[in-house]
Amino acid sequence: MAATPLLPSAPAGRVAFVGAGPGQADLITLRGAQRLSQAAVVLSDALADPALRELAPQARWLHVGKRGFADSTGQEAINALLIKCARELGSGGLVVRLKGGDPSVFGRLEEELQAMADAGIACEVVPGVTAALAAAASAQRPLTRRGVGRSVSFSTVMTATPTDIVRDSGSADTEVFYMAGKQLAVLSRKLMKAGWAGETGACVVSRAGWPDELHSDHTVATLGRASMLHAGRPTVVVVGAGARPLNKVESPASVNGAALWPASMNT
Ligand code: SAH
Repeated sequence: MAATPLLPSAPAGRVAFVGAGPGQADLITLRGAQRLSQAAVVLSDALADPALRELAPQARWLHVGKRGFADSTGQEAINALLIKCARELGSGGLVVRLKGGDPSVFGRLEEELQAMADAGIACEVVPGVTAALAAAASAQRPLTRRGVGRSVSFSTVMTATPTDIVRDSGSADTEVFYMAGKQLAVLSRKLMKAGWAGETGACVVSRAGWPDELHSDHTVATLGRASMLHAGRPTVVVVGAGARPLNKVESPASVNGAALWPASMNT
């Protein structure tokens, strides 16, 4: 984009942080889709479904996913790009910052909102379906359960030091761990150290919201065994009350526990 010198007082465009949802394009909210249709520029994350481009064919799409933008320098580059785009568009222009899942959950939203506030650029946040909720839907395991599951926590495995997990774990009846895929064996050890009984249920869900979503049942002690099945896929781990499967019932619509819906229902 050409650099346009602007007076500091020149009116800038707006920025909408939009949650793309966790999987296929139709999991975005109607409001998110509407903002895309109004955008002149879209800065998109790696996790967002490429099919979302169809909702903003008029916009210039810039991909600021993993490559080159993942570290903290990358974060500053994204902040600078957002400001530059908003200023170049000027009053009435809309930049959409599209983020996987919900922008407020492990999405570096704080830094980007702060950068916009510092630059005097008006913002809006449009929520999205976060991975934990898509995982609960995929496995058909409600995160809250009457009587036994009265609280839910979202944690990241990535930045947690052993002491963090020990301190935080056990604070909720259902705990959902993000960025857990590569560290399932480590998470298992940390959870037991934090006081979770080894036989506590743990459900591992990867690519929730996509046609190839997978979930597998384990215990806190055997979590490490899920590594192969979910390797290389965005994965969350649900531990505790919300991981418990429904009581098995015979249903004419399910054969050997196979899905009740044909796969085509998800496409
Ligand atoms: N803002 C996102 C989370 C970004 S952090 C949200 O609200 O969902 C990235 C992590 O999210 C991944 O490492 C993984 O743990 C989780 N994740 C994202 N999409 C997922 C999906 N479709 N299925 C399972 N986990 C997912």
